[in-house]
Amino acid sequence: MNCPKCGTSNPPDQKFCINCKTFLGMPGSLARLGIHFDLGQGIGCVGGVLVGLIVASALPYIYPIFSARILDIIFGPGPSTLRDGFNTNFMTACTCLSSFLVAGVVSLAFNRRKKPVQ
Ligand SMILES: [Zn+2]
Repeated sequence: MNCPKCGTSNPPDQKFCINCKTFLGMPGSLARLGIHFDLGQGIGCVGGVLVGLIVASALPYIYPIFSARILDIIFGPGPSTLRDGFNTNFMTACTCLSSFLVAGVVSLAFNRRKKPVQ
């Protein structure tokens, strides 16, 4: 692993640079792999979770209004465990996808390409 400050090559398990004593990150950490968690990703992550929770609590009320007719065509009208199982899985998928969508959009909005500092 090369030191981000002075460029010295360090052994992989080294916590501090052997030349300038700069902290290199804990072995196995994300920073060590060159992955830095920034503000945009943090906001995207929190926003995604919040929207996911809101969608998850709202979907049981919204989804049946639109889907009841379609589910009746596929599984037949009336109560059915097959129909309920499908309903639950589809709502879970909708919740996950909306969370990913929000997290992705916010991440993109905050991580506009910056000029690299040389
Ligand atoms: Zn160094």
